[in-house]
Amino acid sequence: MTHVFHRHLRHTPPVAASAQGMFIRDAEGREYLDASGGAAVSSLGHGHPEVMAAMHAQLDRLAYAHTSFFTSEVAEQLADELIGSAPEGMSHVYLVSGGSEAVESALKMARQYFVETGQPQRTHFIARRQSYHGNTLGALAVGGNAWRREPFAPILVPATHVAPCYPYREQRADESAEQYGLRLAAELEAAIVAQGADRVIAFVAETVGGATAGVLTPVPGYFKAVRAVCDKYGVLLILDEVMCGMGRTGSLHACEQEGVAPDLMTIAKGLGGGYQPIGAVLAQRKVVEAMSKGSGFFQHGHTYLGHPMACAAALAVQQVIRRDGLVAKVREDGIAFGAMLAEALGDHPHVGDIRGRGFFWGVELVADRASKQPFDPALAVNTRLKKDAMARGLLCYPFGGTVDGRQGDHVLLAPPYIATRDHLQEIVALLAASVDAVTRGAAR
Ligand code: PLP
Repeated sequence: MTHVFHRHLRHTPPVAASAQGMFIRDAEGREYLDASGGAAVSSLGHGHPEVMAAMHAQLDRLAYAHTSFFTSEVAEQLADELIGSAPEGMSHVYLVSGGSEAVESALKMARQYFVETGQPQRTHFIARRQSYHGNTLGALAVGGNAWRREPFAPILVPATHVAPCYPYREQRADESAEQYGLRLAAELEAAIVAQGADRVIAFVAETVGGATAGVLTPVPGYFKAVRAVCDKYGVLLILDEVMCGMGRTGSLHACEQEGVAPDLMTIAKGLGGGYQPIGAVLAQRKVVEAMSKGSGFFQHGHTYLGHPMACAAALAVQQVIRRDGLVAKVREDGIAFGAMLAEALGDHPHVGDIRGRGFFWGVELVADRASKQPFDPALAVNTRLKKDAMARGLLCYPFGGTVDGRQGDHVLLAPPYIATRDHLQEIVALLAASVDAVTRGAAR
């Protein structure tokens, strides 16, 4: 009997005992190929000697000092590293312990920015359906999965949800990708105006949609049009790159490929690569200046802000990624990875769409390709897929999200950046076998 409060209370998962490179081993000695880096966390793979050495050295120097008394050398170094490669205009990094904390901090930073600049009437967030921004109450409020929000709806901050950029299901046959992007930006504008143009704090979006969306890559021009709408109404743009950032899509920040710079950007997962819990908000100078010239204080904090051990791990991870040119590797090998997926699964009768960039790919599973009809949620295709894949020694990240009021199934692949082409081939072969086994004979 376990005393750990596992989220799935009727099922205790296997015990992870050790991990090295691309593989995790359980206590029974079974080995799993890590095709999802946990939940798109492990960027450098497991047990990297340089990261472990940096963490040991930090532990010998300083494990913890509270940020109300001190900063630390390693937090300052990490912030320098992150700002040195940040989107234009970003000047400061707020270091927290994970993705939800980063999103929560960004929402409050945005709100406080308007309080400091004399616009306290701005109280509303706009975000997108089919999105995930974390599980704390603020992050949950902007998250776009109705079933996650439902039990907590009465206690959430006000947020409106507009359409995600989801060409497979929502781009019309009579419009180009560019026209589709402009239509979505017009929908955002209409939502801002409906709310009251001076009442909206921020538009929050994942640059590339992640887990709950099965990887949604934006159409060309979408984010530029969104940026222009936000600027027109003085609304802040918060890009959530907790999952898609830090090299995952083949550029350090996914927004680089969209040619936009957000006002606030959240990062986490790949930042520390799983070696320590860490997340961050990267902030534009104007947001920080509004606070420093105003109250001089960001009214939000956590005990483990800028934790030295977490900063040491993240700094080492990022230095290795930069030194070894791993982002460029992800970009190049990602093209091959996409081609392998298309070859193995492109014609599969239950694969509706394969989409992604870099080492961030989603495969959407459907009951019927022609009508794009999702599987009946009662079949629990994503749950069975995860189980089947694990039995074959593959860790992938299947998920069911709400599509047109029905549960849709997809699987997320996000291997560590050190994956070789042989690893990628093996991932694709194991996944294809699993998809086949689980969907074979499955009815709607
Ligand atoms: N934002 C995005 C885009 C995410 O994918 C996640 C986690 O999956 C979060 C925020 C929340 O991060 P965490 O689970 O570290 O709190």
